[in-house]
Amino acid sequence: RFSLAGKRAIVTGGARGIGLEICRALGQAGAAIILADLDEQAAHSAAETLAAEGLEVGYRTIDVTSSADVTALGDELNAERPVDILVNNAGVGPKAEALDTPDEVWSKTMNVNSDAPFWCSRAFGRHMTARGSGSIVNIGSMCGLIVTQPQNNTCYIASKGALHMMTKSLACAWAKFNVRVNAVAPGYIATDMLDRFKTDNAVWYERWIEQTPLGRMGTPQEIASAVLYLASDASSFCTGTILSADGGYTS
Ligand code: NAD
Repeated sequence: RFSLAGKRAIVTGGARGIGLEICRALGQAGAAIILADLDEQAAHSAAETLAAEGLEVGYRTIDVTSSADVTALGDELNAERPVDILVNNAGVGPKAEALDTPDEVWSKTMNVNSDAPFWCSRAFGRHMTARGSGSIVNIGSMCGLIVTQPQNNTCYIASKGALHMMTKSLACAWAKFNVRVNAVAPGYIATDMLDRFKTDNAVWYERWIEQTPLGRMGTPQEIASAVLYLASDASSFCTGTILSADGGYTS
């Protein structure tokens, strides 16, 4: 039931961190992968690495905040061969206190973390609903469920809260087409996004670990496993689910 043999999946922000491990996990389960990322060089080298591991992988350089580009990519890829799985993983996590948040930081965070997953869901969901099957997995955050302290980053929290409710709304809208829409809500995961805090704010970094009941950061592989579950038939009765993978943080 976890097998993705014969399936085709696209993963946004797949060039590094959590996205790269999602590509690897879905590829190892048998899916053909399209790795989509803004960073051409990182995408190229990630695709080469995965191909050298024997996985079927191609890559595309795209800014997922461009609704027009995303729509064109959805049409182009589906004309070649159906895309069965979409993982909306690309995201940004700026550091911004509410009173000091510039307009452009607020807008960029909302553009990447909540607008783009909608553009991609609409672009690929159009083909999935027409075909009568598909699975969309959004990478939300525990920050979309609770207000994390002490960093309380309003733009990030708002963007992930919106993504979680978009997940539930699309799940209800597209259930009749047999298209499932779910999300994973990670806790603190050791990637580039958080690594910079080790030097910028080591006190926070240590506190996050202390506040996590399992007593450590999660790994990108641990999020990829949750995505594999939701992407595959193993979760065939789940839609609109927000699956926490946070070491117990939100418990
Ligand atoms: P990361 O910064 O390591 O990687 C993000 C990738 O997304 C990069 O390769 C980047 O080039 C790509 N990207 C960014 N903007 C893009 C755009 N406009 N178009 C296409 N690609 C774009 O991040 P990560 O830590 O691996 O996070 C992945 C996802 O997990 C994000 O949605 C993030 O919010 C979420 N998340 C991360 C954590 C964590 O602790 N790291 C916790 C909760 C949720």
